Amino acid sequence: MDRVHRRTTARTPGCPRGTVTPARRSNYPPDWDQLSAYVRFVRAQGACEWCGAWNSYPHPVTGCRVMLTGAHLYHDTTNSDLGNLRALCQRCHLRHDANLHARHARQTRQTRQIQAGQTQMQLGDL
Ligand SMILES: [Zn+2]
Repeated sequence: MDRVHRRTTARTPGCPRGTVTPARRSNYPPDWDQLSAYVRFVRAQGACEWCGAWNSYPHPVTGCRVMLTGAHLYHDTTNSDLGNLRALCQRCHLRHDANLHARHARQTRQTRQIQAGQTQMQLGDL
């Protein structure tokens, strides 16, 4: 990683990272980078389509440097029709995905508990 790349990807402590992890990358279409760039920088012209925060500038609410992301309105990453995509800042994207992230975290906790030998028990079983 060269110095310029490090500088442009540095993040402010306490500010969220992007949301597409390498593990989930396979759920996206092969042309995702081009689709996402079109939505963020051509259609939205570099501003969050929900709150208007500008890419690369401090967010007016959080103060974190805005990095526009491509968001799926209905959380289906296999549906990348332009009508299902929005250019969102981290704040809007994380708020939009909050319930989905909570569900994934709950599933991960349950899977780890089962792998550790714990059985599932419903409150009604007590
Ligand atoms: Zn926003």
